[in-house]
Amino acid sequence: MPDSRLARDASGAVGEPIAAIATAPGRGGIGVIRVSGPALSGFAEALCGSVPEPRRARLTRFRAADASVIDEGLLLYFPAPNSFTGEDVLELQGHGGPVVLRMLLARCVELGARLAEPGEFSRRAFLNGRMDLAQAEAVADLIEASTEQAARSAVRSLGGEFSRRVEALRDELIDLRMLVEATLDFPEEEIDFLQSARAFERLDAIESHLEAVLRTARQGALLREGLRVVLTGRPNVGKSSLLNALAGDDRAIVTDVAGTTRDVLRETIQIEGVPLHVIDTAGLRETDDPVERIGVERSWREIANADVVVMVGEAATPGDFEAVDARVPESVPRIRVLNKIDLAGEPARRGELDGRPAVWLCARSGEGVDLLRAELLATAGWQASGEDVFIARERHLAALREAASHLRTARGLAGSLDLFAEELRLAHDALGEITGAFTPDDLLGVIFSRFCIGK
Ligand code: GDP
Repeated sequence: MPDSRLARDASGAVGEPIAAIATAPGRGGIGVIRVSGPALSGFAEALCGSVPEPRRARLTRFRAADASVIDEGLLLYFPAPNSFTGEDVLELQGHGGPVVLRMLLARCVELGARLAEPGEFSRRAFLNGRMDLAQAEAVADLIEASTEQAARSAVRSLGGEFSRRVEALRDELIDLRMLVEATLDFPEEEIDFLQSARAFERLDAIESHLEAVLRTARQGALLREGLRVVLTGRPNVGKSSLLNALAGDDRAIVTDVAGTTRDVLRETIQIEGVPLHVIDTAGLRETDDPVERIGVERSWREIANADVVVMVGEAATPGDFEAVDARVPESVPRIRVLNKIDLAGEPARRGELDGRPAVWLCARSGEGVDLLRAELLATAGWQASGEDVFIARERHLAALREAASHLRTARGLAGSLDLFAEELRLAHDALGEITGAFTPDDLLGVIFSRFCIGK
């Protein structure tokens, strides 16, 4: 298995030692440099004078070519194949200053390593059969997780939960394919044979198992991507108050997204672990001021790209929701919020206004905010609270949908056995793309290039 994967690597670069700073940029107590390559004992000897015992931390001095000391720290040696990448790996734990780490990295390059590309360590781990593609992607997703639940789901995928469910589907499909291929050799018995072997019942079972995996994967993709929510409404209707109320006690782990502009405020909050990227637009009034107009145009662009638009008004004077409605693309779901029910003397409730979902609430006291949370999750299609979700990507959903579509086509072709067999084969290949068993090299390049360096 590892050999065939290596043979398929188009870059041809596997084998050369690579090095990178694995810790985040900036200053810290410790900084780690990771080196991976086919044979690194000589490398360790040149750097520190001798080769440490495998997998045991050794306090040592990292030395330059003229034997002067660059830094003092721990050296860890993981001989192949028992390492993250499956090659020899050295981990240099020095002091976490950018200058000293750069000097250490330069020394590694001098000793024959080249700087690693983004995701190259994980790519080697995949090519050497240390993990499949869905697991390698989960490494990146764990590092990038924006909520606790997303992180837990990524750990589940990293541990192979998603891959095992996909493998189980592939095994069922392989059984069915073997049966069909065998039948192809005895054409006179085709249909009878398939019926007696309960081929169509097996197809039913595979389809329903696939549907279940797709359902969980959709939730996993939602945890990974989150939901883009745009808040609109006149000044003073209570948008900021609502955002605060929605964020609630989870505010401590809320992340500010970079790129805050003077007219569009972005913030990430979470509901049941689903990240909500909230964009608070600064009023949408028509204006002659050219600078303000740019802000307004940007707000409309945000709205067109939103997953859901939350239109805030006041319960006593609901205002002109329909004017905004008219300019929001019909494909974008929207929720009306009637805020300040305390002033209007109305109860909190979930209902409809102008035939659209609406929530009456009080952002100031928090009354009814839970109803809005539930409405937002329902709009997002989130139904997995309490379920063990594994993290998934759009790419995985596309592969699962493609497999499902081939199975549906196969069902319609049962009268023509070789076409039936071909559709099963295509479904099988689509599933293989998830774990990387059938992934073309150019796609691998795209996947790993989105990782960060040192991973
Ligand atoms: P924004 O301009 O839309 O972001 O509105 P703010 O959140 O800044 O709120 C404007 C004013 O309305 C502030 O004085 C808030 O305290 C007040 N406000 C917000 N929500 C409520 C509410 O539910 N009830 C009452 N009585 N006042 C509210």
